[in-house]
Amino acid sequence: MLELKALTAGYNDATILHGIDLSVAAGEIVALIGANGAGKSTLAKIIAGVLPPRQGEMRYEGKAIAHLSPRARIARGISLVPEGRQIIAGLSVEENLRLGAYPLEIEYGAVEQRIAAVCGQFPVLRERLRGSAGNLSGGQQQMLAIARALMTEPRLLVLDEPSLGLSPTLVTEVFALVQKLRMKGIGILLSEQNARMSLAIADRGYVLEMGRVALSGSGRELAANPAVVERYLGMGHAASAGTTADRATRHRQLVSGLGAILRD
Ligand code: ATP
Repeated sequence: MLELKALTAGYNDATILHGIDLSVAAGEIVALIGANGAGKSTLAKIIAGVLPPRQGEMRYEGKAIAHLSPRARIARGISLVPEGRQIIAGLSVEENLRLGAYPLEIEYGAVEQRIAAVCGQFPVLRERLRGSAGNLSGGQQQMLAIARALMTEPRLLVLDEPSLGLSPTLVTEVFALVQKLRMKGIGILLSEQNARMSLAIADRGYVLEMGRVALSGSGRELAANPAVVERYLGMGHAASAGTTADRATRHRQLVSGLGAILRD
């Protein structure tokens, strides 16, 4: 669905991304993990069309997209949930959802239908539709940011740090939602510092270090890779403590916990 080849990008004189090769298939969760400043948000902006690449190829559903505006990419089915949510606190939940559909210039009735469909997926938003988005909790605001992105009915969803600032329970809810979206056939690029959770649900993943793909593989392979454990699952982090068997058990518990939420 999305294929990046030898992609280079940066800001002013600084080159931030150096020859990135990355792909996302339909119905696949691909985790992009990396430390602060590794270039994850830069890559998300390039896919959304907010920042132009300097070199390399970017194809979506078989066609080159590097020349397309953000709006044209949204029309083709690419949607971004930006870092920090960027919902508009002074508007209602409904108005934020409307803004999600705005780039498509679809008629009022179609927007209403999409709001109804999105509310079906997010009961918590339906209950607060007329309320101010600024009064939502952090987790609800993240749900709104995802719901707003879904207003364009994307086939590829780029999520930039959706777990940032959320409690572990809310992170689990957001990740369970991401899995539900995958089941609908949406391709998902999940950019995250929370490597443990993102690798637990990812089909594949890439580790970005200083703007380069340092490692790639299945979510399971990466989660078991000693370099990933040491650098991203963290010293003293619960996920890195204990033996490999302990970690494997915790991984299974996490996945089955998410599975239980999905069955609800
Ligand atoms: P974080 O989790 O902190 O957002 P990240 O992996 O998403 O990290 P980026 O935000 O892509 O990293 O930043 C990569 C590098 O690009 C950093 O060195 C950052 O300072 C730099 N950078 C990001 N945005 C800009 C900008 N608008 N102008 C100049 N440099 C920038």
